[in-house]
Amino acid sequence: TFVVFEGGEGAGKSTQVGALADAIRAKHREVVVTREPGATEVGQRIRSLVLGKQSDLSPRAEALLYAADRADHVATVVRPALSRGAVVISDRYVDSSLAYQGAGRTLPVDEVSWLSSWATGGLRPDLVVLLDVPPEVGLGRAARRGAADRLESESVAFHERVRYAFLDLAAADPKRYLVLDATRSAEEITAAVLERVAGLFPE
Ligand code: C5P
Repeated sequence: TFVVFEGGEGAGKSTQVGALADAIRAKHREVVVTREPGATEVGQRIRSLVLGKQSDLSPRAEALLYAADRADHVATVVRPALSRGAVVISDRYVDSSLAYQGAGRTLPVDEVSWLSSWATGGLRPDLVVLLDVPPEVGLGRAARRGAADRLESESVAFHERVRYAFLDLAAADPKRYLVLDATRSAEEITAAVLERVAGLFPE
């Protein structure tokens, strides 16, 4: 079972990833918690290229680096874990590229989508939890934890495009998505996630 958390800056993804992992482990299932970019050794290097302070990549080069990170992530972490029956929970996946590299950087979304399917060999999540947060709120939270430098380089309009791209993806495939208002409390969000995920794991 492959579950992905998506959302803008400061949506609280890592808190929710951790809470879901704890709940599934309590049922004695193996859980692999992972993230993009940067889950593998090569991915770490790619992460510092795309998120480094001096990073001024052209959008296509950036999209290719995210795709390379994802290809390595899927081949060496996600697929092996899924084949041994583990539950994989990833903080970000393909939708982040459609939202950030596609809508955000205004690359054609169908091309970014094609690139991601090539990179992953077509692996799709069973469930995507979208933590939806207005950029003003999310950016404020992210700034408080010290990510301000990197985030200030993008306009609020960029983050708005990202937000609506995520929401459009969810609206187009409602069975695969759980959209939650990330301004609610962490506890309420965890409860909603657990309720939905329960359906994926017959006791
Ligand atoms: O999830 P996390 O906050 O670690 O993501 C790091 C940053 O990487 C995000 O702020 C986002 O701007 C960027 N990102 C991106 N395209 C992706 C994935 C992440 O621009 N496909």
